[in-house]
Amino acid sequence: MNTNAFALRHIGPREEDQNLMLKALGLESLEQLIYETIPDDIKLKAPLNLDDPMTEHEYLLHIHDLSKLNKARKTYIGLGYHPTVMPAVIQRNILENPGWYTAYTPYQAEIAQGRLEALLNFQTMVIDLTGMEIANASLLDESTAAAEAMSLLFAVRERDQKKAGINKFFVSKNILPQTLSLLHTRATPIGIELVIGNEDTFDFSSDFFGAILQYPGKNGKITDIKSFIGQANNVGIKVAVAADILSLVKLEAPGKFGADVVLGTTQRFGIPMGYGGPHAAYFATKEAYKRELPGRIIGVSKDTNGNRALRMALQTREQHIKRAKATSNICTAQVLLAVMAGMYAVYHGPEGLKFIANKVHNKAATLANALEALGYKLMNDAYFDTLRIKTKAKNIKRVASEKKVNLYYPSKNTVTVSINETTSIRDINYLIAVFAEAANKETIVISSIDKHNNIPEQLRRTSDFLKEPVFNKHHSETELMRYIKFLERKDLALNHSMISLGSCTMKLNAASEMLPLSWFKWGNIHPFAPLKQAKGYLTILKELEDQLTEITGFAATSLQPNSGAQGEFAGLMVIKAYHESRGDHHRNICLIPSSAHGTNPASAVMAGMKVVVTKSTAEGNIDVDDLREKALLHADNLSALMVTYPSTHGVYESAIKEITKIIHDNGGQVYMDGANMNAQVGLTNPGNIGADVCHLNLHKTFAIPHGGGGPGVGPICVAKQLVPFLPGNPIIKTGGEKAITAISAAPFGSALACLISYGYIKMLGSEGLTESTKIAILNANYIKHRLEGSYDTLYSGERGRAAHEMIVDCRPFKANGIEVTDIAKRLMDYGFHAPTVSFPVPGTLMIEPTESESKAEIDRFCDAMISIKKEIDAVSKEDTNNVLKNAPHTLEMITADEWLLPYSRKTAAFPLNYLRDNKFWPSVRRVDDAYGDRNLICSCTPIEAYAEA
Ligand SMILES: *Cc1c(COP(=O)(O)O)cnc(C)c1O
Repeated sequence: MNTNAFALRHIGPREEDQNLMLKALGLESLEQLIYETIPDDIKLKAPLNLDDPMTEHEYLLHIHDLSKLNKARKTYIGLGYHPTVMPAVIQRNILENPGWYTAYTPYQAEIAQGRLEALLNFQTMVIDLTGMEIANASLLDESTAAAEAMSLLFAVRERDQKKAGINKFFVSKNILPQTLSLLHTRATPIGIELVIGNEDTFDFSSDFFGAILQYPGKNGKITDIKSFIGQANNVGIKVAVAADILSLVKLEAPGKFGADVVLGTTQRFGIPMGYGGPHAAYFATKEAYKRELPGRIIGVSKDTNGNRALRMALQTREQHIKRAKATSNICTAQVLLAVMAGMYAVYHGPEGLKFIANKVHNKAATLANALEALGYKLMNDAYFDTLRIKTKAKNIKRVASEKKVNLYYPSKNTVTVSINETTSIRDINYLIAVFAEAANKETIVISSIDKHNNIPEQLRRTSDFLKEPVFNKHHSETELMRYIKFLERKDLALNHSMISLGSCTMKLNAASEMLPLSWFKWGNIHPFAPLKQAKGYLTILKELEDQLTEITGFAATSLQPNSGAQGEFAGLMVIKAYHESRGDHHRNICLIPSSAHGTNPASAVMAGMKVVVTKSTAEGNIDVDDLREKALLHADNLSALMVTYPSTHGVYESAIKEITKIIHDNGGQVYMDGANMNAQVGLTNPGNIGADVCHLNLHKTFAIPHGGGGPGVGPICVAKQLVPFLPGNPIIKTGGEKAITAISAAPFGSALACLISYGYIKMLGSEGLTESTKIAILNANYIKHRLEGSYDTLYSGERGRAAHEMIVDCRPFKANGIEVTDIAKRLMDYGFHAPTVSFPVPGTLMIEPTESESKAEIDRFCDAMISIKKEIDAVSKEDTNNVLKNAPHTLEMITADEWLLPYSRKTAAFPLNYLRDNKFWPSVRRVDDAYGDRNLICSCTPIEAYAEA
């Protein structure tokens, strides 16, 4: 046996542990467990057809070789992506640190104060730079953020009687091409009419509910947004501004002119281009629209002791609660990238950002002067970093390609050059030489960069930003390193203990999978670079598509969607395009079981579908009779069924083939939510079950770390008939023959993060992947067994087995006055993150251990759960001053001189022995959500400043 095989590193339980677990379950073998778990008629007959597994060392050599196929050339393409400098202190202490990248979305606020603070910094940075009142803690990319802005303005238009029912939205012709494509994708299904035009000649007397401008425009021009917004405000047209965040250092904040939404990407703040992502988009708006604001908002509140404590605010807006009435389907966002971009601002501070922005602007202006001296005509008088030159593009392109420089050529007679943080004087001279050679002239040599200001007077920034202390005291490496550590210590991540979140699959994110993300030749490729320069990427992306196609049993894959929810939307749009291609424009009914994840109905509504909810049986399965009845009733208009498999109840429904057949017989397509794919890989697959399309969460099943709430990658895999409609991109040809318009800004979504899943599959191979699925099922069933007698498991398969996760019922404890939240908070005292709370059944916990957790860790978790059950038994409804209601307990409480609680300090903080060696201290007591929502504060401006205002 190769004791160094990656499968043995990825999978937790050793062989002897597996045997002990099987024995406890009364089983002879793993095969017997699988036989008792998965219905026979859906089992795969043959192993997956994948390459033999590589060892970690072999893989790193392989991925290094492939990186050499990428040509990281000097790139001045712009269009929303720029070369950057990631501060090494951020790279080492955040990007490469499992304490940050393996954390979960901060639902359990008391053990997530570190990343909550980092995100509050991000929001404050956005609020300051945009001049808006509130901001969220990231969206997926600039183009989807623009689409969210359009939806928000559409949703609030009814508040103005004059605008009720108006559906026209103005889009500046200077918008980025990928954003325009996305606006089309999102406008059509909900009945918004886009009108594209020149903002300088916009007729303000016409009937529009809103408009979007690019600031500066795609070719570098700075529009007078002050005048446009002023006139639009007068006639009730709401305005969104897609703004370059670095330019806002020099340009006045759009909020100061009355913008309703300001959005964009924060990639320029130290995040590598990564061939398109992941990067955090930002989104800021007015307080009046806080209930329509998409994504997660971090807010300030207080804990039981009245101390300041952070948590996610206004959660009732989210799709988890609002479902089909949700304003957006955003779930996973780009938390890790937002943390990093926020830290870039912390590190540089206001003065540092000014230095960088001035450097970029002055270099652009210096280049402009030299080009004019060479006789070139510049088309923009006002610009920040992008020059637009009127000349024969062909001539420039010939020389630039020869000299290995990437410029952008928007038309036959225009060339654009975008200067960035990495551009040196040497680079400027090199660019001048390219243009000189193309003009057959002697070049001009620049030896210094002068101060310039080509920003129109009325748009120059006069307002302050980043005055808060946090942006003004961590400017040495030592200080920032310690600040990052200070925050990290408040957060419980996978490097402390298992995070058994049902439906979220928090498995190992192996170091070997992560290492290449820091490499120069993977980071520094622009998504619109010529394909010849991206051969390394194209190789792995194609192979990953093929691997996922094989694993799902389908015909093709698109890697474009940046999250599971975006995958759902993409899949439904593909289904819609398919129906329409057959003349079935009327098919708009989407059946969704009541137990579905909230993103399902939210995505269906975005795709212009009508949601019809189907019932579940008492056993937690889809009520097949109800489903058949509804499918027949809506047969003429049936578009799709969205179904999760194994079900969100953690069961492999044996009727699944019958269910997919009912839908097909009635003219519909079957969408499978692939969040539970970790229970399928290698044993069964969506194609086999009869689905037509599924999304995968590569950040669940395929080892991309959760990042504290993103990045995610949510590819869709489709059957043959849907392949022609896979999503495209306006600049780089991708997707099917009849591709729908873009789902994400970049042609391959978050290409850089895809390396992780590629490595995962490459190192596990067919056998390792299948073994992982089996052990995930073994681990879950072992927990189910160990908790028997303490907790009732709701739902199991026909032979009494769970799938890869299970739901334990906490509702009976209400008799003792204990809610499921109390158990979640008490688990913190035991050093564990709670499982999924109240999804899909209120009052329950959904536990998913994954294959990566060892028997020892699982035993520790079960010991904690059993110990908590004993505590529950010992308390009563009448007396709420107990160890569960008071949880979590902080170090400050335990070490206080005074101790008045009716149980000991040891019971509070060290209830089991293992805690003596490995104690994690929650940094605040229980956080008051309601208080924070009533007094919404979502920036780190000191409270006193609010009091003064
Ligand atoms: C996680 C999840 C989703 C949403 O995926 P995101 O990547 O967070 O958008 C959808 N459905 C189910 C069942 C999930 O568990």
